[in-house]
Amino acid sequence: MIRPDAPVLLEICDLRASVEEQPILKGVNLTLRAGEIHAVMGRNGSGKSTLSKVLAGHPAYRVTGGSVLYRGDDLLALQPEQRARIGLFLGFQYPVEIPGVSNLEFLRVATNARRLEQGLEELDTFAFEDLVRERLQVVQMDPAFLERSVNEGFSGGEKKRNEILQMALLEPLVAILDETDSGLDIDALRIVAGGVNQLASADNATLLITHYQRLLDVITPDYVHVMAAGRILRTGGKELALELEERGYDWVDVEIERLEAAELEALAAAQGSRTPAEVG
Ligand code: ADP
Ligand code: MG
Repeated sequence: MIRPDAPVLLEICDLRASVEEQPILKGVNLTLRAGEIHAVMGRNGSGKSTLSKVLAGHPAYRVTGGSVLYRGDDLLALQPEQRARIGLFLGFQYPVEIPGVSNLEFLRVATNARRLEQGLEELDTFAFEDLVRERLQVVQMDPAFLERSVNEGFSGGEKKRNEILQMALLEPLVAILDETDSGLDIDALRIVAGGVNQLASADNATLLITHYQRLLDVITPDYVHVMAAGRILRTGGKELALELEERGYDWVDVEIERLEAAELEALAAAQGSRTPAEVG
């Protein structure tokens, strides 16, 4: 839902980031307002997961430029757990298994940390069980999964459902879902997408990272962004996803090559126009 006067929840400005000294994000700009659903699409290797990990605060990724404001405050200054507590959620492309840690207990600790931040009371085991049973319905998940270790031995689809269950409990303001549709059969896709639709509201924003149009058949984005070579090459409405489905990504490669060549030329021209004294 697009409301031009809705509060800005996340403002990404010229974000640049490297991993192992290799620049991956090369100036990403993106603004998310309350109520909006955005989709980021792009070929493998275009930097989509890097963007999500940088936003979540993954230590392997180094921010080398730009800024990210979360409700007006510097997000990048915060530790990953602080980011989660104030309402940023990342659903992983590859959710990790945590053997020996009960899923129920993990969810309870995470939920209580978030609730404290929201000024709500902590839930004891019994109260939490009531809440979690209600939220299980969002993803039609069997309560038996609560008794197991976090994601251990879960199928791909079960892991993704567990991510959305986490999201249903944490009630984030900005939810970033990295390829939540990958590895899902059509029934699981409908359930997961249905959960995401249920959780989207006028107060929060969702960033869906996907490379398939099929997810966008069940979740209608307000904006679609095409990412290539570490930046957002084009932004449009939901029809842009259909265009990508039809035309593929080859035209994206052509455009990004043209853009990078033009930048190099401009750089060379700027250097060439400096006087020898400036260069020295
Ligand atoms: P996408 O999610 O769009 O497929 P990624 O963000 O995963 O793309 O990857 C973008 C580029 O960054 C790729 O070339 C990938 O190999 C590289 N990259 C990402 N994470 C790491 C890492 N931890 N170590 C080395 N290279 C990485
Ligand atoms: Mg990825």
